[in-house]
Amino acid sequence: MITIFKKWLQALGKLEYVQGKARPNVDCILCAVRDNDKQVKTLKIYEDKICFVVLNIYPYNPAHLMVATTQHKTKILELTRSEILHIFRTIQGLQLLINNLYHPKGYNIGINQGKDAGGSIEHLHFHIVPRYGSELGFIDIFSETRVLPEGLEAVKKKLEKNIGNYLTKEFFENY
Ligand SMILES: [Zn+2]
Repeated sequence: MITIFKKWLQALGKLEYVQGKARPNVDCILCAVRDNDKQVKTLKIYEDKICFVVLNIYPYNPAHLMVATTQHKTKILELTRSEILHIFRTIQGLQLLINNLYHPKGYNIGINQGKDAGGSIEHLHFHIVPRYGSELGFIDIFSETRVLPEGLEAVKKKLEKNIGNYLTKEFFENY
């Protein structure tokens, strides 16, 4: 169990390293995405005052999402009580959305906080990786021959079209 967890953390770290190679010249890639910087091919599908949701540009699986804090924060300890609630409520809403559209069998949800933990993007963000049961190991993420069944743009369109039905004002207020 520990080995599996370690592998998955390593995989996420390397994933961010891969992303880093193509990183444009901005101070913080997630702040740039938040601000719709033209250098960044934005895959943002939701935003509010506390967090925003972006598709991972090198997804492990269809609907691999990241929830990032809207303010540039770098540690869980910097989150306020209401931010913690809001971010986890957002993750619940995203799971309802992904469950409905993609029917995954499980999820990996994780954070790499700090360079020594494999985090190459300092800006605090949660990975939400749906798991479909038929994949090979997590490490396959590095294989250049890996083919995702659905293109990133198609996934984005599908999620964008539906996300408004899940992350509603009522959803955040009534639970
Ligand atoms: Zn930032």
